[in-house]
Amino acid sequence: MPRVLVIEDERKIRRGLEEGLSAAGFEVEAAATGNEGMQLARAGRFDVVLLDWMLPGMDGLEVLHVLRSAGQTVPVLILTARDAIDDRVLGLDAGADDYLVKPFAFAELLARLRVLLRRGQPERETVLRAAGLEIDLLRRRVTRGGAEIALAHKEFALLEYLARHKGQAVTREMLGRDVWDDPSYALTNVVEVYVNLLRKKIDSPGERSLITTLRGVGYRLEE
Ligand code: CA
Repeated sequence: MPRVLVIEDERKIRRGLEEGLSAAGFEVEAAATGNEGMQLARAGRFDVVLLDWMLPGMDGLEVLHVLRSAGQTVPVLILTARDAIDDRVLGLDAGADDYLVKPFAFAELLARLRVLLRRGQPERETVLRAAGLEIDLLRRRVTRGGAEIALAHKEFALLEYLARHKGQAVTREMLGRDVWDDPSYALTNVVEVYVNLLRKKIDSPGERSLITTLRGVGYRLEE
């Protein structure tokens, strides 16, 4: 079920959107202020954000600016009562993906949301799952069965890479080139040292390692 965040101060519109979007199969959360909406959006649990332009306090433009500055790539559709072309351009420049002028037809809103959801999918994979691990790329958090595993920066990068290639052979050359940005690392024991550090953190004692060593080739993370 796609998750949508509605940030809209006008109660009637907000309620209408909540009801309509729920009925259309969305999981909806709503915020009445820019501040509250920004906090929710920054947590990164949404597939798309509906953002009203004119909000008391922190307005839509500021919310958008903070989100994009924080590296949040969630698609944002701006709702605006203003029909001035300058404002539209401003919204898109600020990192909005689309806009809709109020009043709008609900069917039109749904159609635009579906386009954004389709467009957003491939690069918006922010949680990788492999070998029973959950790797949250935005929060830089790794969990196994809900328990957090603290990883150093390089260990995280290594695990992310292995997870992106889960079930596949990853050579030392690939790891040197893509994780250490220097293929010559493949000739040292640095890769092996880090794989072993990572194993100590992600493996359960007494169980087979989640990372298989492929002799003379490299490594493979379980799917
Ligand atoms: Ca408003």
